[in-house]
Amino acid sequence: MLSDLETNLDVYVDAMSVTSTDDNEKHTHQYFDNVPYTVSPVKGTPGYIQTAGGIKFAWKFEVQMQHNWYEAAVTLGEDGSYDVPFVADWTSDFSPSEEPSSSPNYRSPARYAVFPWGVNDPSEANRSVEYEREDPIASPVGWHTVFDNGTSKFLNLTTTLGNNVLAQENWEGYHPVDAEHHDTRFLDHKRPDAGEKLEFDYIYEPSPRDTETFVRRYINASISQLFYTANMYHDLLYHYGFNEEAGNFQDFNFGRRGKGRDAIIAYAQECGKRNNAEFSTPPDGYRPHCRMYLFYNQSYIAQPVKDSSFDTGVVIHELTHGVTSRLTGGPLDSSCLNSPESAGMNEGWSDFLATMLRDRVDPFKYDASFYVGAWAASNDTGIRKYPYTTDKHLNPTTYSNLNDDYYQDTHPKGTVWGQMLWEVAQNLVQKHGYNENMFPSVENQPTVTGKFYRPVTYNSEGKPNPLIPIHGNTLAIQLIIDAMKHQKCNPTFVDARTAILKADEGRTNRENRCHIWRGFAKRGLGRYAKRIGSGASLTYVEDFTIPPECVESS
Ligand SMILES: [Zn+2]
Repeated sequence: MLSDLETNLDVYVDAMSVTSTDDNEKHTHQYFDNVPYTVSPVKGTPGYIQTAGGIKFAWKFEVQMQHNWYEAAVTLGEDGSYDVPFVADWTSDFSPSEEPSSSPNYRSPARYAVFPWGVNDPSEANRSVEYEREDPIASPVGWHTVFDNGTSKFLNLTTTLGNNVLAQENWEGYHPVDAEHHDTRFLDHKRPDAGEKLEFDYIYEPSPRDTETFVRRYINASISQLFYTANMYHDLLYHYGFNEEAGNFQDFNFGRRGKGRDAIIAYAQECGKRNNAEFSTPPDGYRPHCRMYLFYNQSYIAQPVKDSSFDTGVVIHELTHGVTSRLTGGPLDSSCLNSPESAGMNEGWSDFLATMLRDRVDPFKYDASFYVGAWAASNDTGIRKYPYTTDKHLNPTTYSNLNDDYYQDTHPKGTVWGQMLWEVAQNLVQKHGYNENMFPSVENQPTVTGKFYRPVTYNSEGKPNPLIPIHGNTLAIQLIIDAMKHQKCNPTFVDARTAILKADEGRTNRENRCHIWRGFAKRGLGRYAKRIGSGASLTYVEDFTIPPECVESS
């Protein structure tokens, strides 16, 4: 790079251009375009800094290169000499040895025989052939390519090991999370190898004889499904802001900040427990474990043992635990959903997102009902007391249910929160409509708008404002993810409601404030709802009031 710069300095300087931005009639920033080896315009800000030789005038530059993001100060002497008194690299996950020495070799996208994205479980549709997403933003090297630290090269793999998800069986039972030692025992477990063509096409033939031994016949289909669902969710949430900097789950972070080496270790047909699924989340930089157990229902003749990796709602519920844990209180703190109230809400977010991502038979039907885990549990009404629905006859839960014995357990408590989020989201769908495609286009981000996002607007510094999804369901997901990022550690219902209102303020300038308030107030978390007392005397007082400015508007 250095010799290239020396040789071609004039060419590079000629190609550069400068734009100033006007902030309160002062030129506070300048953007330098076409700076060699950078991936975005270099922002320059004039000011004064403290140096060994006293206070000096300096330009501060923010320089984003492919694998590093530097902040540097440059001072100018009266004789035209210059000095660089300060350089910092904002990229925390890159040591020089981790810089790739080459791009991955080309390969075609993998194919999977799976229940496609949006299908909640096998009762809703048949399997079809789906392709690995080609998403240069969320998964720049795809789902089956990993970075080898030893050779500094990308390797194309033919199994269900990749940069976001490491999927396999776990018939021999539980491995505790051993974050500190970077657990590699998962590597010894079985997983499908689809060969060079990457065709993950395996039998899935459930039958009335499905004992534990029988379901093992379709382990490869199960692992492929779990791998597909977890990668789709990784790519989807990347576009809503669960990226490297926010603490997402990837072994290699492409120099985009955050800590790497934390792809999800996902176990299909995990033994040791029944009728359950789990996700354990250590802090950023350590791999989480996702465990999908078998569900047993001896009274259900058609298929007595079910493999929960095929119940996508249950899988997304588990994966969402990782998201909420990393986002609440920041990616380095995994203990911010530990109070009884926030641990309950943790379950609510998981139910909510799993339900939001289901395909709708009629997406505009405001009062449709959705049951969680019905297929896995072989039970029409699922594993929760009520369905998620805006119909209060079918789901009457409100804030004061938190006082009831039944709602002291984490999952019931979570349904109260999940139902509130559901009301808010359906109000936004009523207002802004429904987008069946919850993935934004991946071309030309972040400027592509129109079908998914509203047109870009710019702030007073000339920088683009955060994009706003056009439709109600995508906007609801965006606001709820935004809110997780700035809500406090161990939030209460009231804290998390405040965070969602603030997220709407930041993203849409309070455009949806009244629709959000109405959703919460319908379920008793209105303006004057509060907690009284503490410990055994803690009481939740519900309230159905909305702010006065929301009463008249519709
Ligand atoms: Zn859960």
